Amino acid sequence: MIFHFPCRHLTIHRVLLLSHLLLVVCLVGVMSYARYESEWSNKLRYFVELSKGSFTPHLNDISRLLTEQQYSKLTSAKILEHLNAVDKLKFLDISSGEQQSPVHIQFVRASEYLGIVDANQTMNVQSPSDWNTNVLESQYKLDKSGHALHLYLPLSNPGHGRIWAVFNASSVMEYRQTLIRSLLLEAVSAIFLSMLVALYVTRRVVGPIKSLAKNMSSSEPPSMELLPELARHDEIGQLAKAYKSLLVKNYDQLRQLQAQNDTDTLTGIGSRYKYSRVATDFIERALKQQKCVGMFVCDIDYFKPYNDYYGHKEGDRALVAVAKGIQQTLAAGDMVFRFGGEEFLVLLARPKKSGLQYAGEMLRESIEKLNIPHNALQGCGVVTISVGGAYACLKRMSLDELGAKKILDMLFEDADKSLYQSKEQGRNRFILSAQSIQ
Ligand code: GH3
Ligand code: MG
Ligand code: MG
Repeated sequence: MIFHFPCRHLTIHRVLLLSHLLLVVCLVGVMSYARYESEWSNKLRYFVELSKGSFTPHLNDISRLLTEQQYSKLTSAKILEHLNAVDKLKFLDISSGEQQSPVHIQFVRASEYLGIVDANQTMNVQSPSDWNTNVLESQYKLDKSGHALHLYLPLSNPGHGRIWAVFNASSVMEYRQTLIRSLLLEAVSAIFLSMLVALYVTRRVVGPIKSLAKNMSSSEPPSMELLPELARHDEIGQLAKAYKSLLVKNYDQLRQLQAQNDTDTLTGIGSRYKYSRVATDFIERALKQQKCVGMFVCDIDYFKPYNDYYGHKEGDRALVAVAKGIQQTLAAGDMVFRFGGEEFLVLLARPKKSGLQYAGEMLRESIEKLNIPHNALQGCGVVTISVGGAYACLKRMSLDELGAKKILDMLFEDADKSLYQSKEQGRNRFILSAQSIQ
């Protein structure tokens, strides 16, 4: 089974924040722990040394008294006075270390006074279980739950006696609590602050990239001017400027290409591609304005013989002249396209059907009046066109029902039939079909 880490679903913003959080938590964690270790061990060592130091002046006396077996002196008021003066001492156990006649004297502090434990008293003070009593060096153990410091001090008497002292370690434990609390507070503050900084930085970096990406989908250069990233002087600003120039170039090339595709190269009028791009919108717009929309299909009469007689070049010239003639006859807003070899298609809108009838007639007449000689057939003739027209004067409801595309197809079908009839009836005429679209 292949395991996919969910990383690819993360945004740059989240990856930056998460990696930053991970790094900061690791760093702060390691640094806080190191500080805790150093400060706590210093404090504990100091407390141990202080506790050991409070016994140092009495170690020789206690060792000597044990060697000389003067045990009563060990419990004398003078020694008790000294021991009572030892700060934080809770319990003391002096042992001779002799195997044959071991001596064990214990003191315990009760009601602020350190007194000797008598033989019948049961002591519940436990020495540490892993205490190594064979070593000749001092040892200590901290009982964290009991808030007590156990100290092991070897004596210098021949039987190797020792002192086991228990000190009240509440103040050290309190210090430890305070230390942990302040370190935690510092760590949380550091993480919080660094996350704020990370949030600000990622917003400054990722925010503009996001806005650039969003803008890329609109791809209209005018909206680029509104990009605030363009005003920046950093890498994001450079990226925004590079992106803008690329987009403008792209947009210009696209417009150039579209203009090329929209124009018929020979005649300079609209191409068939342009017709397919704009015709539906033209129909829809005109019908929404409650106008009658018309479509004329114009075909040059006997153009093959013209070509054969005058040659292809001259045929081209005649084509250009006819295209210009049609264009000049039309009103503003009308559209003309070269639909095929010597076929033109006109889209126009008028308030009434009569306007369309008149326009078609004018169109046919204007080409005849160009007086382009066409002597290929009977002699003394001129170039003419046959025009087949169709129209639709529809209510808004019908437009919604049929749709502009369907209306366009029906208009073309009717206009083509009318053109056929024009040719059939002798050419150089305009026939407008009856409205078939209701
Ligand atoms: P009709 O009156 O029935 O339309 O007869 P027609 O000769 O015009 O009909 P046909 O469709 O047979 O001939 C069309 C001719 O148009 C054929 C071709 O030589 C010519 N033609 C088409 N495109 C061009 C062009 O770009 N330049 C030139 N010079 N001639 C073209
Ligand atoms: Mg033709
Ligand atoms: Mg023709």
